[in-house]
Amino acid sequence: LTPAPRPVRSRCGVRARILHMSGVERNPNFGKLMGGYLFPEIARRRSAFLEANPEAKIISLGIGDTTQPIPPHILSGLVHGASKLGTPPGYSGYGPDQGVKDLREKIASTLYGNRIDPDDVFVSDGAKCDIGRLQVMFGKNVVTAVQDPSYPVYVDTAVIMGQTGLINEQSRQFDGIVYMPCNPGNDFFPDLAALPQRPDVIYFCSPNNPTGVAATRPQLEALVAYAREQGSVIVFDAAYAPFIRDPSLPKSIFEIEGALECAIEVNSFSKYAGFTGVRLGWTVVPKQLKFRDGSSMHADFNRVMSTTFNGASNIVQDGGLAILDKEGLAEIQILISYYLANAAKLRATVEAMGYKAYGGDNGPYVYVDLGGKSSWDVFSEILEKAQIVTTPGAGFGPGGEGFLRLSAFASKENVDEACERLQKVMVKGPVPW
Ligand code: PLP
Repeated sequence: LTPAPRPVRSRCGVRARILHMSGVERNPNFGKLMGGYLFPEIARRRSAFLEANPEAKIISLGIGDTTQPIPPHILSGLVHGASKLGTPPGYSGYGPDQGVKDLREKIASTLYGNRIDPDDVFVSDGAKCDIGRLQVMFGKNVVTAVQDPSYPVYVDTAVIMGQTGLINEQSRQFDGIVYMPCNPGNDFFPDLAALPQRPDVIYFCSPNNPTGVAATRPQLEALVAYAREQGSVIVFDAAYAPFIRDPSLPKSIFEIEGALECAIEVNSFSKYAGFTGVRLGWTVVPKQLKFRDGSSMHADFNRVMSTTFNGASNIVQDGGLAILDKEGLAEIQILISYYLANAAKLRATVEAMGYKAYGGDNGPYVYVDLGGKSSWDVFSEILEKAQIVTTPGAGFGPGGEGFLRLSAFASKENVDEACERLQKVMVKGPVPW
């Protein structure tokens, strides 16, 4: 036990306290996590640059956060949800932990063409939170597989849960995680037959963050076939599904036959409708999914939700219902077209500079091949020379080294300006990265 804090007097006479330590042992899994989550590290480097260069006009193409206002019909849903709370008949307190029935039904019919049962939809405060809750459900004794590169939350939550050993300093991979390389060489789809170990849970995101590339139907069919054969469960992250414009590309894993017995889907209104701050998402856990002992995953996920969550905000769920109205869906298309136009411009700009780039046509991210350079070095160089914040590919896993992610979530004006800055740096001298 550490001693209680003791007031002391410093040399200038100001009373200070000796740092007090509790007697609580730290969860050792936190010690395994590398230098913090990716985006706080980017924010730290950006602040340090701004401190040294207070005049700099920074443009952010870094974090994948929406920038455009919520359109009128969807906003009217939120306003309606808030106003009715001020009336006796409209007031509601705690709602169902799984979300209101109307919204679960509307998600199942509008977004899944009734391929799923509304009872299998768990409405929540977002996909990130649900990934954490799924990890709580799976516990520590599962082997997790991730696309490399991928959204860092899959690996970090697996580490926090205790599913992994330490990071291997050389490979930059955690012991116990199955990394599935996805790069231009394999069309961004892993060689499943070559995985070193049978995974229990496969996190698969399409369109992918950071590559912006969406998986094809044959690829997803191969993924489902593999999961069924191995007895694995896919956690399909469809947070960027509405960006898919190519009608041949599936927007949900449940478009693939056989997925109801081997897949869970996490999804979100964050990028659909600018709800990143509003917070509304959902997870589909089909009742057909079973653990090895025959018990129901749906029942266990329901238990996690009802134990640790009290339901999504009633106001926000009214916003969700408005998103799924005909008018709301039309508004979403306008928002998405806006961001995809940004992505097209970013991709054309870097390609005109002679770089190979991927994504941006069915996803909001453009993934630039840096021709062998280090992604954090290039991140710093672009920040200094063009005052543009990007995201280094290495932050998404060792497979992202040598790549840079450009986010289309910005105003058109900022994207135009960013493209001009990149072009100017190029004209004046050697390529900036
Ligand atoms: N999944 C992916 C792949 C993401 O990139 C993000 C956010 O950037 C999320 C989930 C988080 O979604 P939400 O805002 O619903 O928590």
